[in-house]
Amino acid sequence: MRENIHPAYPNAKVHCACGASWVTRSTHGDLHLDICSNCHPFFTGKQKLIDTQGRVDRFRRKYANTPAQPVKSKKEVKAAAKAAERKAPAKKAKAKKEPQAKT
Ligand SMILES: [Zn+2]
Repeated sequence: MRENIHPAYPNAKVHCACGASWVTRSTHGDLHLDICSNCHPFFTGKQKLIDTQGRVDRFRRKYANTPAQPVKSKKEVKAAAKAAERKAPAKKAKAKKEPQAKT
């Protein structure tokens, strides 16, 4: 290696918000992470909400009083439409045009 062109590359401790920590090397010094391979959903395979700015809480507060509506499948929507049709059939028969009297 050429002299006097390489930065110092000492050991650095890495700390994650989940509590994991390990030692690596870095020119930057110690590292503090929000997420690492021990706690990232990609590696754990578990669903996890990463909420560093309280956005999930804000969303829940905003829609706390809004009742959740059950999602209807296409089948259910069709069945409901058919039932409504049976109750009050849509007027399909078009009013016949009155033959206009010739003047
Ligand atoms: Zn972590």
